[in-house]
Amino acid sequence: MSDCIFCKIAKHEIQANIIYEDEMLVAFHDLFPQAPLHILIIPKNHYATLNDVPTGEFGILGQMMQTAQQLAKSQGFSEQGFRLVMNCNSDGGQSVYHIHLHLLAGRTLLWPPG
Ligand code: 5GP
Ligand code: ZN
Repeated sequence: MSDCIFCKIAKHEIQANIIYEDEMLVAFHDLFPQAPLHILIIPKNHYATLNDVPTGEFGILGQMMQTAQQLAKSQGFSEQGFRLVMNCNSDGGQSVYHIHLHLLAGRTLLWPPG
């Protein structure tokens, strides 16, 4: 989508601190990190919310999870732990309408979330 900031990051039209990229997805550091490690993993294709992912296209979600597993390991957080979050719509706290998986690590995260 032309006015979507995460589409622009995926197309390298705006700057981001990219930590991993392949043909399907991009992972980059969050601009306002909420933990010592805070990475966003996005598909290159635009889906506004999880509600908008067609049944036949859920493979990308598995690839995003696999990338999270690999980044948690390569960044050294597999054993101490990490959290994966995908917010959906207003009650979920979504603010950017291009799906993204948050990978948070490096501190003890509270539960339940606020
Ligand atoms: P949401 O609230 O939609 O689940 O998460 C959106 C995330 O995107 C927030 O953590 C926010 O800090 C991050 N974010 C928003 N705009 C940008 C940007 O332009 N660059 C980067 N790297 N992160 C952004
Ligand atoms: Zn987009």
